[in-house]
Amino acid sequence: MMTIDNYKFAGKKAIVRVDFNVPLDENGNITDDTRIRGALPTLKKILADGGALIIMSHMGKPKGKVNMKMSLGQIKEAVGKALGAPVQFAPDCAKAQEAAAALKPGEVLLLENLRFYAEEEGKPVGIDKEDPAYEEAKKAMKASQKEFAKTLASYADCYVNDAFGTAHRKHASTAVIADYFDADNKMLGYLMEKEVQAVDNILSNIRRPFTAIMGGSKVSTKIGIIENLMDKVDNLILCGGMTYTFAKAQGGKIGNSICEDDKLELALDIIRQAKEKGVNLVLGTDCVAADDFSNSAHTQVVPANNIPDGWEGMDAGPETRKAFAEAIDGAKTILWNGPAGVFEFDNFTDGSRAIAEAIAKATDEGAYSLIGGGDSVACINKFGMADRVSYISTGGGALLEAIEGKVLPGVAAIKG
Ligand code: AMP
Repeated sequence: MMTIDNYKFAGKKAIVRVDFNVPLDENGNITDDTRIRGALPTLKKILADGGALIIMSHMGKPKGKVNMKMSLGQIKEAVGKALGAPVQFAPDCAKAQEAAAALKPGEVLLLENLRFYAEEEGKPVGIDKEDPAYEEAKKAMKASQKEFAKTLASYADCYVNDAFGTAHRKHASTAVIADYFDADNKMLGYLMEKEVQAVDNILSNIRRPFTAIMGGSKVSTKIGIIENLMDKVDNLILCGGMTYTFAKAQGGKIGNSICEDDKLELALDIIRQAKEKGVNLVLGTDCVAADDFSNSAHTQVVPANNIPDGWEGMDAGPETRKAFAEAIDGAKTILWNGPAGVFEFDNFTDGSRAIAEAIAKATDEGAYSLIGGGDSVACINKFGMADRVSYISTGGGALLEAIEGKVLPGVAAIKG
């Protein structure tokens, strides 16, 4: 397979799909440039080798229409500064033939937001799925998506995908475009390679014991991963809001705690599966309950299955935190996705902090630890422990789908 390190970029034009979907404030200033920094190694390598760059990305959800609030023109200067090279801008990504043709080695062209064209996502707009004409519209859209991808491909000699955040989507720029390059002229960028390797460390190159920690608000959004991990892990910590669905399913009293009443059977089934498969399932036994969903609420530590009326479980209690730390201590492979409490409120961060500390300690002792999903990454950053874990994924949905065992279209389009 072709890689960034093998490819001879000198004198070539490379079209690179990046994820520059950065948050902007009201004045169009970037509030967090992590995603731009994430793509720099790939972009700089191509320039340093004497290639020319055509950079493409989406920003926000303009739904196939031009919306200047989501124009990539707003970040042109910032990209230039980060790259240390001037950046030209193509205000229409599908009409950049001339600008691309004129590019010389070392030059950079940034294309306007791909999602200003519905063809990027390939979904028909303005027609309901129930409409009898929908299937026809979908077919027509798929055909024009191919044309759109072909146009983008025509700008360059080779294609690089470094946008892990959208790798789970089969879009024109993330997957379809790869059909227009032969195997020797398409490759994953450094960031993609790192992310794919990180997932592989969790799913294939497992060193034991393997502890996975799944938190967050709901069982329903994590069930695919929980089921896939059940066959792989030694210890499975399920925490956060999920705790109370499990507590109620087992006959507990959970007060006002968050709960998915239609997932009680599923919770019991997860407990059964863990027993059958010999997985050590760690669920909260005590919790920090609050009399209001706010940082200034009164709190008390109560059993997670006996929460007084009018109170709700907001964070893991001390006994639970100890059990979490024990299940992480000595682990050699660790995956963490989702907080153990309402960590956005400073008074309910102890559960997530206990997890972060235990992961940092295990990592110091030689474990491989992967942290993924916006909230757990935010936790690790909030606690200042980002450099004490092995890898922090940039992907939300893409990481979760990869861990569920799904093939990511953005990766498959290149790896075959
Ligand atoms: P998710 O998007 O499913 O990963 O969930 C993340 C959210 O779960 C965060 O915003 C947390 O505040 C929330 N969360 C964690 N624990 C609880 C809890 N006990 N009650 C309500 N929300 C929670």
